[in-house]
Amino acid sequence: MKKRKFPLQIVFFVIIPMMLVIIDVIYQRYSAFTQMAQAASSDTYIKWVDFNVSTQALKDAYKYDVDSYGTDAHASMSEILAYLCSKNGNNFDSYNTSSFTALTDRLRAGETMSEISAGLKLYSYYYESMEAVVGGFVGEYETVSGEKKYGLKVFSPIAEGYYYNHYDDFGASRSFGFKREHLGHDLMGSVGTPVIAVESGYVEAIGWNPYGGWRIGIRSFDGKRYYYYAHLRKNHPYTDMHEGKIVNAGEVIGYLGMTGYSTKENTNNISTPHLHYGLQLIFDKSQKDGNNQIWIDMYALTDFLRLQKASVVKDSEANEYYSTNSIVDSNAPD
Ligand SMILES: [Zn+2]
Repeated sequence: MKKRKFPLQIVFFVIIPMMLVIIDVIYQRYSAFTQMAQAASSDTYIKWVDFNVSTQALKDAYKYDVDSYGTDAHASMSEILAYLCSKNGNNFDSYNTSSFTALTDRLRAGETMSEISAGLKLYSYYYESMEAVVGGFVGEYETVSGEKKYGLKVFSPIAEGYYYNHYDDFGASRSFGFKREHLGHDLMGSVGTPVIAVESGYVEAIGWNPYGGWRIGIRSFDGKRYYYYAHLRKNHPYTDMHEGKIVNAGEVIGYLGMTGYSTKENTNNISTPHLHYGLQLIFDKSQKDGNNQIWIDMYALTDFLRLQKASVVKDSEANEYYSTNSIVDSNAPD
């Protein structure tokens, strides 16, 4: 009898669970693909973006955009990333520079981006997606000393000289209130660390939120990106902030803390001090709130943003930190 039971247990505890995992993987791949295909074929707005671009690909695309600026071979960061996504099926696990080099060789040889992308399936979908994610990352801006430049317009959310730890925590489960997915990125650091505006934009939300504690939401000038910064410092969350204010990239917006997970304002209910920050993409106003929100994985982006950090100085009298190298975006309204 014992001998006959053994294979049955294998079926129940090994083979069936394995098959369920395989079916789940196939289903996820299939549904991601159909969503992309629908988004690419329909003339309505994009419903979903899986941001998988690696840090190295981001750096390559950014560098080429800046280096080629003003030449006939110029291509934007979004165009280059869209090309790479089309070529590798949005899988950057084994990214090496060969497809990037092949593209830039063709551009330098005189081919245009529209000629190169003409036969690429899903290129326009990827272009619109990448434009939503990194469309405000590179461009014209003015430094604090009034110098006009073309280059990187985004900053690390943590000021220069302050440490943080992070890992890829996107989609991990969280259980305060109700079980839900983690739609952002946590940077573990010390309380009081100056938090920096990644990109310029308008303050759209500010104040207490039962999950995020003291939080601030900043919308990019093109309206496509909503940056959410949460768990800011108890008693001293912000630096001179109000709804509607224009914030420059690189400015201090507040301080890392432990607030949140409470309906009672100004409560420290987070056990490990960290900045939670998230990036939401908005192609249509119906995607801002409700069930159709698109948040993206910030892990690789966070490493990319280390390319530019805000230097801060303390004004002891005001008990505030100020950035000395923030920028004024050329798209900023007067
Ligand atoms: Zn978080």
